Amino acid sequence: MRGARKICGLMTDHIYLFMGIQGSGKGTQADRLSKDLSIPHISTGDIFRAVMKEDSPLGDELRRILNSGALVPDELTSRMVRERLAKPDAAPGFILDGYPRTQGQVEHLDAMLTEQGRSIHAVFFFDLPEEETVARLEPRRICTRDQSHIYHLVNKPPKVDGICDIDGAPLKQRDDDKPEAIRKRVEEYKRETLPLLDIYRARNLVRRIDATLSMDAVTEEVLDIAKE
Ligand SMILES: [Zn+2]
Repeated sequence: MRGARKICGLMTDHIYLFMGIQGSGKGTQADRLSKDLSIPHISTGDIFRAVMKEDSPLGDELRRILNSGALVPDELTSRMVRERLAKPDAAPGFILDGYPRTQGQVEHLDAMLTEQGRSIHAVFFFDLPEEETVARLEPRRICTRDQSHIYHLVNKPPKVDGICDIDGAPLKQRDDDKPEAIRKRVEEYKRETLPLLDIYRARNLVRRIDATLSMDAVTEEVLDIAKE
C-alpha cells in the first residue's frame, strides 16, 4: 500500500498543503518532497497553463476569463483541481501548492476530500520575514534576450556586471522584483493567506517551517514531518 500508512489504526494519506510567499523556497521543497514520496507536486499555475492549452470547454472558459483580465472564480479553480486530483498519479497522495488561496477554496477542498474519505496530513507554512523576502528577490536580474537566463547579484552574479554570461545581452531587473512590487505582494499574501492558516491551525494541521534556514536544513525538517 504505497503512500498510505497506518497511524493509530487510521489510514492517513500523503496529502500536504504548501503555503509561503514567493522566495520562501516552497516550490523547491515541494519538488524535493514530491521526489522522495513519489507523489505529484500540483500547483495551480501548472494546472492553469495545462488547461489553457486544451481544446476543451474548460480550456475555452479559462482562456476567456484570463484574457478578459478577470480573476478565475473559486468554483472553476476548484473544478480544475478536482480533475487533476482524480488522475491516477495522485492516488497515493499529493502536494498542493498555491491552492487553496481563499476561504471558498478551503471549503471546496474539504468537500472533495470528504467525498473520497481522505484527509490532509499536514499544512507546511514556510515562514519568511518580509525583509528577507525583499533581500532574496530584489537582487535577481534577468537577461533581456532570454528570460530563462536568470542571475542573482549575491548568489549567482554574472561574470561581467550587467551582462549575460551566455549571450552577452544586457541584464535587467524585472518590475516584479523591485522592492515596491515585492512589498505589495507581501501585503496581498498576508491578507489572503494568513486567515487560511488560522483555519488550518484550528485543526492542528499547521507546521511552521523557518524558511530562513538553508534549503537542505529545511528539506530535512519537511521530510521528518512528512514521515511522522
Ligand atoms: Zn542571456
